[in-house]
Parts: sequence; structure tokens; C-alpha cells
Amino acid sequence: MKAMQINAYGSASDLSLVDAKTPSINADQILVQVGAAGVNPVDTYIRSGTNNYSTTFPHTPGLDGAGTIVELGSQVTGFEVGQRVYFSRNLSGSSAEFAVCATTHTYPLAGALSFEEGACLGIPYTTAHRALFGRANAKTGDKVLVHGATGAVGIATVQLALSAGMDVVASAGTQAGADLLRAQGVSTVIMHNEDNHLEAFQSLETGFDVIIEMLANHNLDQDLKALTTGGCVAVVGNRGTVEINPRDLMARDASVVGVALANIKPAELSLIAKALRPLFEKGVLKPVIRHCYDLTELAQAHEDVLKSGALGNLVVRVG
Ligand code: NAP
Repeated sequence: MKAMQINAYGSASDLSLVDAKTPSINADQILVQVGAAGVNPVDTYIRSGTNNYSTTFPHTPGLDGAGTIVELGSQVTGFEVGQRVYFSRNLSGSSAEFAVCATTHTYPLAGALSFEEGACLGIPYTTAHRALFGRANAKTGDKVLVHGATGAVGIATVQLALSAGMDVVASAGTQAGADLLRAQGVSTVIMHNEDNHLEAFQSLETGFDVIIEMLANHNLDQDLKALTTGGCVAVVGNRGTVEINPRDLMARDASVVGVALANIKPAELSLIAKALRPLFEKGVLKPVIRHCYDLTELAQAHEDVLKSGALGNLVVRVG
């Protein structure tokens, strides 16, 4: 099968197209013919061996994807050959024509979604759901800031928060990003590269119940000052260290919680997938695809996913 691979930790340009052996599956696994692979920042961390991620070589990047089941292990129940599915944390890499998937991380793909859209679901929407509901306990009517809302997780969070009846403020880094957020239904968009962009929210009367934070090393200190009493910052993204004043937490009975997709237990994953599916079927949630790359353009996708000026998800078309 065709696959994009790398033989040691390195830069995106070290990725190359190879003819690899089609993987075989164990009794408890599923083989999926990949239609499209999602490209997430974590793929670049794994490829380069940064942010505490490691892998074995040759390495085929890609945790997320969508496609058609072509083979089931003898112990697998609840799935069918020919079924359209999306998956996350697959075992062999989604930047390839076939991927070995675990039953715990493979879900039916809503009929309303293409494989390209399905490839955007695993990490972004599961993270968004867990951050909002599983970690920050956000509720209908809460005032929520999605701090860094133009990327894959941010747009998923905006869509989920709006659909749950929250009062959403969202931040962008570019005018195009701000326009995208307004088109998603956000009435108050702020610009996270402007100094003091949180100032108007930094009182108990105007502060947020929940902040979903995509770049905590830049923002956590100011986020804490923009919480109302009992407010919570859920840290989804972070690329460094930050100094905070714990008094900002004390003064508000506030909390900071971490969110790591890797910590979700299979039962919670399954509940999240079940909760999301009707929302995808009805079109309440719909991934925004910024760009679809050919498989051979994976290196470019790895470069682009780390650039500022996000406008949704990046996807590699495989099938
Ligand atoms: P992405 O698509 O690359 O988006 C990155 C987002 O960060 C964009 O909205 C970008 O906005 C925003 N951003 C840039 N500078 C910012 C700033 N100063 N303040 C606030 N936001 C800023 O990435 P993603 O897939 O949405 O993931 C977002 C982050 O969460 C990444 O660091 C990723 O590694 C992490 N993540 C963590 C988990 C977990 O389990 N904890 C799961 C998935 C992702 P502009 O481009 O408009 O400036």
C-alpha cells in the first residue's frame, strides 16, 4: 500500500512516499481503508519527538481518519465490513491506504459527512466536548470564551458551545479568522494578538464562567483575571511556561483544569461519540475544512498546521 513515512525523528521534509506492506490485524482489531486523514498539531509533535511524544520507526503519521471497514478481527462485534467509520488514535498511521484501528477508538460515521469531514472529528470534536462538558462543566447560559477559536479544536468548541445555548465569545488572530467565527454564529469576536484584548472582561460582572484556552503559556495570567466568581479555565493547548498570580484564583474561587485526550477512558469516549453523532447527522456540528492535500503533500500539511492564521481543519485525501 502507499504510505507516507519517516525513519527517524525529523522535519516534515523528511517524510516520503513509500510502498509499505498492508498491515495485518489481531483478533480484536479493525482494518480500515482510509478515505481521508486528519492533520493535527500532535502529529507534528510525534514526528519530531517533541512535547514528550515518542514513536517507533518507520513511522506513518496520522492519528485521525475516516474510511471504510475492509476486515474485522474474529473477536470484533458491533461493526460490519463495508461500514463507513471515523477513528482516532489508530495503531498504524492514517497517512496510508489502510489503517489498523482499535474498537474503542472507531465510530460510525454520520451519513451526512464525507470522509474528508469525518477525518476532522476524532481529536478536535472529542477534545472540544471533553474540555467543555467533561472538565470545565460548562452549562447552558454560561458565558464562555474560546481563546484561540479559529483552529480545529476551537471551531469544534464554538459549534458545541453555541448548540448547547452558551453565550460564546471567541478569539481570532486574523481578520479572515474573525470573519469565519462570525459566519459560525459568534456575535462577539476578539483579537488575541491585540494587547489588553481581555480588558473589557476583567471584572466579576463581565468575566467568563468558562475559558477554553488554546495557548496557555501566552494567556493564562490574563485569563484568570477575566473569570467571574467560580469560573474555570480549561487548558487544551500550551507551548511553554507562564507566570500567574494565584491571588487571581483565590479572589474568584476559580479553578484551572488540564485537558488531555489521552486520559479519556473508553467508556467516556463512547459516550462522547454517541452524543456527537446526532448533531453531525442534523448538521448542527459541521467541520470547516480549510484545505485538502494529496497524500504526497503531507509534509506541507505538517508545516501549515503549525502556522498562525488558522481557518479550520487540514485534511489529507488518501482514497
Ligand atoms: P490549530 O488548528 O493549529 O489552531 C491553533 C489555534 O491557536 C488557532 O485558533 C490560533 O489562532 C490559536 N492561537 C494562536 N495564537 C494564539 C494566542 N496568542 N492566543 C490564543 N490562541 C492563539 O490547532 P488545534 O488542533 O485547534 O489545537 C489547538 C491546541 O490544542 C494545539 O496546541 C494542540 O496541540 C492542542 N491540543 C490539545 C489536545 C489535548 O488533548 N489537550 C487535543 C487537541 C489539540 P490564529 O491562527 O487565528 O491566530
